[in-house]
Amino acid sequence: MNSFDIIKLEKAIRDVLDFPKPGIIFKDITPILADPDLLSSSIKALTSFVNNSSIDKVIGIDARGFIFGSLVAGALGKGFIPVRKEGKLPWKTESQSYDLEYGQSVIEIHNDAILPGERILVIDDLLATGGTAAAAIKLVKRLGGIVDLAAFFIELEFLNGRELLNDCEVKSVLKY
Ligand code: AMP
Repeated sequence: MNSFDIIKLEKAIRDVLDFPKPGIIFKDITPILADPDLLSSSIKALTSFVNNSSIDKVIGIDARGFIFGSLVAGALGKGFIPVRKEGKLPWKTESQSYDLEYGQSVIEIHNDAILPGERILVIDDLLATGGTAAAAIKLVKRLGGIVDLAAFFIELEFLNGRELLNDCEVKSVLKY
């Protein structure tokens, strides 16, 4: 992606101060989702990180990871697996708790979502402290999957989240 496209994406992201808690600057990506050109270039940028033949499935993390993850899965011709907040998935699940930039949470995956040995692309909108993505990677591993790549639309580099993801490749489109 050239620097002109990067600037267009950066300009479209809305910084919302003190949401959902005081002290957090929330990166609102909804203006990008609403713009067909920006949405398309975001998905192209994420898919450009991927060697298509080396992955079997795409995982998206609740909730904005579903948007980017399912569009990336569609673009790559792969299946999509949702990793959801606790209590939302209807079938048998594996669970993992984790610390957030703002609080604590639990995420879950269906226990038959990944076959042993499958190679997985993990997608989320934003990498902050890395707790969410690290928990998703633990779930993939518990089911016998191999995380090939974790890719994010935005990375807040000053929070050093990628240090928690040290055993897989990590890529991001926009870095702050
Ligand atoms: P973390 O576990 O700290 O890496 O947080 C990542 C998750 O929290 C992602 O699913 C993001 O959607 C969300 N998140 C954390 N911080 C922000 C932020 N400043 N702006 C928007 N989303 C955020």
